Amino acid sequence: MVHSKVVIIGSGPAAHTAAIYLSRAELEPVLYEGMLANGTAAGGQLTTTTDVENFPGFPDGVGGQELMEKMRKQSERFGTEVITETISKLDLSQRPFKMWTEWNDAPGSEPVRTADAVIIATGANARRLNLPGEETYWQNGISACAVCDGAVPIFRNKPLYVIGGGDSAAEEAMFLAKYGSTVTVLVRRDKLRASKVMADRLLAHPKCVVRFNTVATEVIGENKPNGLMTHLRVKDTTSGQEEIVDANGLFYAVGHDPANALVKEQLKLDEDGYIVTQPGTSYTSIEGVFACGDVQDKRYRQAITSAGTGCVAALDAEKFIAEGGESHASL
Ligand code: FAD
Ligand code: NDP
Repeated sequence: MVHSKVVIIGSGPAAHTAAIYLSRAELEPVLYEGMLANGTAAGGQLTTTTDVENFPGFPDGVGGQELMEKMRKQSERFGTEVITETISKLDLSQRPFKMWTEWNDAPGSEPVRTADAVIIATGANARRLNLPGEETYWQNGISACAVCDGAVPIFRNKPLYVIGGGDSAAEEAMFLAKYGSTVTVLVRRDKLRASKVMADRLLAHPKCVVRFNTVATEVIGENKPNGLMTHLRVKDTTSGQEEIVDANGLFYAVGHDPANALVKEQLKLDEDGYIVTQPGTSYTSIEGVFACGDVQDKRYRQAITSAGTGCVAALDAEKFIAEGGESHASL
């Protein structure tokens, strides 16, 4: 068994930002980047996208995969040890914290590593609907992030659709209204889940239409490699009637699943499963355990906000270690 001062679990912008800060502080961090953890390649959610145009420092945009490779290199440059394994079990009941990887977690087995401080940066996954056509047109018209993808030319002055009835759906629809000719929000029930203020704003928006009791049943588009979606089949759930509508963009806003499996019995989570952190810090409900990125942020969910909280977690962990592990009150 090996002991480290600090271990980072995750491999997105939050994890690598924490790694860059901690390795520059000479704390010799170890980062477990996962081996297809939660179904996503090491590097996290950005490895599933093409161009990232809103990460500062890249005026011409940067490929998601390339951005994550650069972050990984920067972590390693200052001495972070990156291990391509998934942490499958974590014992936070006492310090040093213990962890096991998925190849080494048989009952009774020794932990692979112990650590004085742990940073949880396991991210989140946008929920998908698995509609017919979804796989074909994913990122060719379908997206789970309007703020990330909405500004691309294929959506300009085109009819766009959003699925969902929560605050994200309302926010994304109004954001997309800047680009699309119209934005139609499909809500599966007869009411919005969004907060009153957001719902009122959406319903009053001149370019947004809300269709209640309506679900999408198929995505239709060009039948060629990298073809774009052009239409959507929708169904009125009260009458059962289906129709095919023009649609050049489809944005899912049906919720995210934070990757909390490692800690859900151990750390305080909110009602949606996100790790609760003390506002303005990365402190969790256990001293010495810090959380950053999308696993603790259901509101902003951006690469740059994840990176920002990764920096916060590194500085909090550094202080905690410097002060002998007694530096913060837990939640
Ligand atoms: P994530 O990126 O979620 O990565 C966490 C990773 O950690 C996991 O994917 C997995 O590889 C690893 N991991 C998880 N569990 C374990 C474990 N137990 N052991 C080891 N490793 C583990 N944001 C923008 O700012 N701009 C964009 O243009 C943009 N485009 C996007 C496009 C798409 C298609 C998607 C899905 C998201 C996009 N986002 C964009 C959002 C952005 O990707 C996320 O906000 C950001 O990646 C979250 O970073 P994170 O560090 O919290 O972790
Ligand atoms: P929510 O879980 O609040 O809403 C998800 C929406 O998707 C619901 O309307 C749900 O319908 C719908 N949905 C789920 N599954 C399906 C499906 N299979 N088919 C069709 N529709 C489906 O997620 P959000 O991401 O909107 O919000 C998460 C949290 O973040 C909330 O607490 C929210 O308040 C907060 N937030 C706040 C913002 C703000 O204040 N500006 C902005 C963004 C998020 P149903 O209602 O029927 O369950």
